[in-house]
Amino acid sequence: MSRTVRDQILSRLAGIRDPERGRDVVASGRISGLTVDEAGIARIMVETTPDRAAATEPLRREIEQAAAGVAGVTRVAAVLTAERTPGRGPGQAPRGGAGHGHGHGHGHSHAPAGPASGSATGPAAGQRPSAPVVPGVTAIIAVASGKGGVGKSTLAVNLALALQARGLKTGILDADVYGPSIPRMLGLQGRPDSPDGKRITPKIGWGLKAMSIGLMVEEDTPLIWRGPMVQGALDQFLRETDWAPLDVLVLDMPPGTGDVQLSIAQRVPLAGAVIVSTPQDIALLDARKGLAMFRKVEVPILGLVENMSWFTCPHCGGRSDIFGHGGARDEALKLGLPFLGAVPLDLDVRIMSDEGRPVVAVAPESEAAAPYHAIAAGVVESLGRVRREPPRIIIED
Ligand code: ADP
Repeated sequence: MSRTVRDQILSRLAGIRDPERGRDVVASGRISGLTVDEAGIARIMVETTPDRAAATEPLRREIEQAAAGVAGVTRVAAVLTAERTPGRGPGQAPRGGAGHGHGHGHGHSHAPAGPASGSATGPAAGQRPSAPVVPGVTAIIAVASGKGGVGKSTLAVNLALALQARGLKTGILDADVYGPSIPRMLGLQGRPDSPDGKRITPKIGWGLKAMSIGLMVEEDTPLIWRGPMVQGALDQFLRETDWAPLDVLVLDMPPGTGDVQLSIAQRVPLAGAVIVSTPQDIALLDARKGLAMFRKVEVPILGLVENMSWFTCPHCGGRSDIFGHGGARDEALKLGLPFLGAVPLDLDVRIMSDEGRPVVAVAPESEAAAPYHAIAAGVVESLGRVRREPPRIIIED
């Protein structure tokens, strides 16, 4: 999409010297976010500290002007971002270098450019735990759930395929290290290639670039994953896999809302998250924790999905609301979040995904695939909306 424009901006910015840090603004880690949308609007996040905000303003303006001179850029919004508190979650090894991720913050607050940013108060924090850089990937979206078995991976696969059907170059990264089911659902086997012994060539399943821990270890090898190991494996998969060029990378999160999940939400430059839940109340309670987790790290929630919403009888086509359909829609309404759609409990969905023949790939026009296409449309719409929203000012105590 706008990758080349983004790259051109980056190389233009690499010509600007950072007077405080003595290197160019890209190498110095001054640029903490850079996105260019379809309309050619470039959003650049320029790191500063609350007490240096006013002093950084000339640099911000210089960055803005340089980006505005790149062909294909229609408008530039360069904002100063001032980190407040170091993230509170686990597994956050500070990293150097610029995180050219997406324009949404991870444990740091954004202040708009200009005088307002000078009003930020509070201590300057240490180095921000910046996310790994994923060049050539426009948006990473997480599919998360409060608990296992709600159909999160099935949704992730079919959503990725439905996004692909909309013409987006799409990939899927299985971060569900506890039960990596993406290889099975896409019918993939064998270790991915690594021609140079360093970079990983993703497997291709039904057109999707796919990567999973399940491809790297023997299926019956019991593995005990500690948080830092999960993070390490994930960082590696993000950085060392040849994803580019991708419009969307769907990240199948491990189920739940614990430390491992929080740490992923903090470290991966997520453009947004989709939360999936079954209609049962208890699962909804869990989904609420998921919402809170993403909010804590300022990852926008793209919407809620209700899975196994009702049962369609394979014999008579009749519909039964066995779990009391509608809970997630009500919940979304209450929370002011988009409701992305409901997926029925469908025997074909179960059989096909367990056979490595996901319904959206095999029967894209079928009734069973329709909810996934609708959800994909909602995700694209939500993504557009969260990108257009101006940065928020968050003052933490
Ligand atoms: P999770 O990732 O939340 O653990 P999975 O996606 O692995 O859940 O789904 C668990 C099981 O439920 C799988 O066997 C899958 O095929 C099945 N399943 C998921 N969604 C549906 C659905 N809408 N209809 C029928 N079966 C489903």
